[in-house]
Amino acid sequence: MSHAELPHVLVLGGTTQGRQLAAALAERTAAGDPIGDPSGDPSGVPVRVTSSLAGRVAAPRLPAGDVRIGGFGGVAGLAAWLVAHDVRAVVDATHPYAATMTAHAHAACARVGVPLLRYERPGWSPGPGDEWRRVRTLADAARLADDLGERVFLTIGRQEVAAFADVAAWCLIRAIERPDPPLPARAQLLLDRGPYELAGERELLARWGIDVLVSKDSGGEATAAKLVAAAERGVPVVLVDRPAPPAGLRVVREQPDVLAWLAQTLVG
Ligand code: NAP
Repeated sequence: MSHAELPHVLVLGGTTQGRQLAAALAERTAAGDPIGDPSGDPSGVPVRVTSSLAGRVAAPRLPAGDVRIGGFGGVAGLAAWLVAHDVRAVVDATHPYAATMTAHAHAACARVGVPLLRYERPGWSPGPGDEWRRVRTLADAARLADDLGERVFLTIGRQEVAAFADVAAWCLIRAIERPDPPLPARAQLLLDRGPYELAGERELLARWGIDVLVSKDSGGEATAAKLVAAAERGVPVVLVDRPAPPAGLRVVREQPDVLAWLAQTLVG
């Protein structure tokens, strides 16, 4: 089977999980693995993979395989793209907080009858010494952070920092790129990209005198060290809950479950 004839899988990415999935799929295709038997080892399904990135970051880490960048133009645009590119299955591996893209994928796939799976890494679980306060929204997080401390470490990405525009506390804002305004009146910007090591996170909390940490419940290893460092210093953590997935959307947490689903969907 030529590359163009392989079943086309679209991975909605922008995450470590999406990049790792694209690499796993591209590797199998390059190795010329036979189509897997869905009742047996599901890891041998060769596919043509395209990853989609939103284009928010100027120099993104590009996944293996084909890559397209930029919005689709809403549900209708994505539905048209799926048909035009003969997509056989979609894996939504966007960030747990990319709720709009997830909703659009759900609606578009339903509209054109393309199977969709949501691949979302598990959130974090508190360990001994963790003092986490869970809140539903970023607005709630801003209010609580202001109540809890005076020097806030804000690690919520760059797009929604405006929710903290009115806090009285001083904020250390860490993001990959300059956040969208308005920003808190008293703030220091730290442009950086994970993964972050524990030693560096310890040093950062101490150097800036951080007394409250605000984070999304992103899960994964790359940015978890800040939680350990906060627990060690007795710094409270305000954790913003994940948005709920659309009703009826199948969600898996681990890559082998994605591969098994692809084998079932494409071969079974
Ligand atoms: P979002 O609010 O859910 O989506 C807004 C719009 O951005 C979508 O309607 C879509 O535009 C476009 N879009 C989002 N993800 C896309 C993708 N993978 N490929 C093509 N278009 C995409 O998304 P977001 O929260 O801004 O996240 C944008 C990207 O950053 C995603 O790839 C996500 O995985 C990544 N990311 C997000 C966060 C976070 O905290 N939200 C953190 C780390 C990484 P159209 O309607 O025009 O199709």
